[in-house]
Order: sequence, then C-alpha cells, then structure tokens
Amino acid sequence: GPITSLISAATQIQSGLAAIHRIDEVGRLDMEPESTGVPAPTAGARPATVSFVDVAFRYAPDLPMIHHGVTFDSAAGLTALVGPSGAGKTTVFSLLERFYDPVAGTVLLDGKDVGEWPLADLRAAIGYVEQDAPVLNGTLRENLVLAAPAADDAEVERVVRLARLSELVQRLPEGLDSRIGHRGTTLSGGERQRVAIARALLRRPRLLLMDEATSQLDAGNEEALRQVMLEAARETSVMVVAHRLSTVTRADRIVVLEAGAVRATGTHEELIAADALYRDLATSQLLATSDS
Ligand code: ADP
Ligand code: MG
Repeated sequence: GPITSLISAATQIQSGLAAIHRIDEVGRLDMEPESTGVPAPTAGARPATVSFVDVAFRYAPDLPMIHHGVTFDSAAGLTALVGPSGAGKTTVFSLLERFYDPVAGTVLLDGKDVGEWPLADLRAAIGYVEQDAPVLNGTLRENLVLAAPAADDAEVERVVRLARLSELVQRLPEGLDSRIGHRGTTLSGGERQRVAIARALLRRPRLLLMDEATSQLDAGNEEALRQVMLEAARETSVMVVAHRLSTVTRADRIVVLEAGAVRATGTHEELIAADALYRDLATSQLLATSDS
C-alpha cells in the first residue's frame, strides 16, 4: 500500500520535473524573479514589431546554411509563416527568442536588435506555443498558471474565454480544478492546443509565436482555433507557422519561405494570384482537409 503510493508519487514528481525542465528549456520559466508574474493589463502593452534583415544562419559552423538572407517585416495582427517542411520556419522563432544568434544580418524586435535586449525582457515579451505543446498531469488551472503563478482568477477566466475553453470548463466535473492529462480527463487535440495558447496568453506576451500542430482537427475545433488566433491577434502580435488553409486565409500577412529565403509576402488573395508555390501549398492543404 504505502510503498506503492510512494513509488507512484515519485513517478509523478519525476514526470512533473521533466515537464518543467522542458518548459524551462524553451525559456518559459527562465526569467528574473520580478518578471515571472503576469503584468497587469495595461493599455500601453502594445503589440511588438518584428524585422528580419538579410538574416543568414546555420546551427553550427560545420552544418549547412539554413537561412540565406531572410528579410521580412511583421507587426500587429496575424502573420503566417508558410513553406515546405525544412524551409526554416521554426528556425525563425528560435532566432527571435535568441536561442541562437544569426551568422549575418539582424533580427529586430521593436526596432532593436534582439542581441541587445536583456534576455529576461526579451523572453518576457514573447510567448511561445510549441508544436504539440504538452498538457501536464494536474488540474486545468495548474496547467494554465504554470508560467504565470501570480495570475488571479479574473486573468485565468479571461484567457479561458479568449481560448474558447469555457465549454470544456463547464463539461469537466470540477471545472478549472479538474484533473487533466493521462491521469485525468483526456483532452482532444484541439483542446490541448487551446490550453497551450491560454497558458501563453496568461503571461500577456507582446508577441505570440505559435507552431501550429499538424494533427487533424474536426471542423468545430478547427474553427475554434482560427477564432482564438484571430482574437489573440487583436490584442497582441501573433506569428504562426501555419499548416492549415483556414489559418492563412484570414492572416493579415503571409510570409512564404522556401529553402531558407523569403520568396513572397502578401495576403492570401495576393499570393494566390502571384505565387505558384503558394498556390500549390494552398491547393494541397485544401485537398487535405476537403474530406473532413
Ligand atoms: P521548418 O519549420 O520550415 O520545417 P526548421 O526551421 O525546423 O524548418 O528547420 C530547417 C532546417 O534546419 C532543417 O533542415 C532542419 O533539419 C534543420 N534544423 C532544425 N533544427 C536544428 C537543430 N537544432 N540543429 C541542427 N539542424 C536543425
Ligand atoms: Mg517547423
């Protein structure tokens, strides 16, 4: 009895620590103590601007160049990065968060080289929803406040609404205090993505980076995700590596990356008219989702 409980507790602690470590790796908790709290809602928390100016990058001196002079601008609203697998889309996010420095060129946030930002301020300004972001064993509330432990109920409720999680909260036996993850209620892929978005939004980032999960969503979850991204983009700058046509059609701007360079930028309509690769991507994504 007691020994089994101890072993089970130890396993839970270990998996919890591994998850925290993983979040720490991407910088969620890697901040100065004074910046771990949720900033109070302020009218002055304006969306960040992003510029890549002729950025060249490789992961190591003995590895091939990944970015060959990437140049684009992004500001408030929804910016979608699209392009074939391996084009360098996720790498754009890694450079913005300054996990790596470019070999040449400049990455700017609010017109200032990210290399000149105090790292804690940079990471506090940016929220990152990784592809297949983890849901941890614990309550829904614990999952949300993970990187913003000082968040109050009103803040939690705000992001729950924004991330279209209210229905889930109502359905769960104990609302926000219900256990989720594989030791509790299993969430759908769409719900997991929105929990990850709500978690990131709770920190009130001025730039939200999202690497959209490739998993298929049913029509309801796909529409919910689209609404959440558009709503988040009304209060902050959102950049999303997009895999779904439904995400890009409403984006304010789309950056088409191919083999480490920007081949076109524009809105969905502009790119459909002007860029053959974009047209192909859009067509195949449309085909991929037409039977769902
Ligand atoms: P995308 O998101 O467009 O699919 P990525 O930015 O993830 O592309 O990757 C671009 C290229 O960089 C790929 O060839 C990938 O294998 C390589 N790459 C990505 N991350 C690393 C890493 N940490 N170390 C070495 N190579 C990497
Ligand atoms: Mg990627």
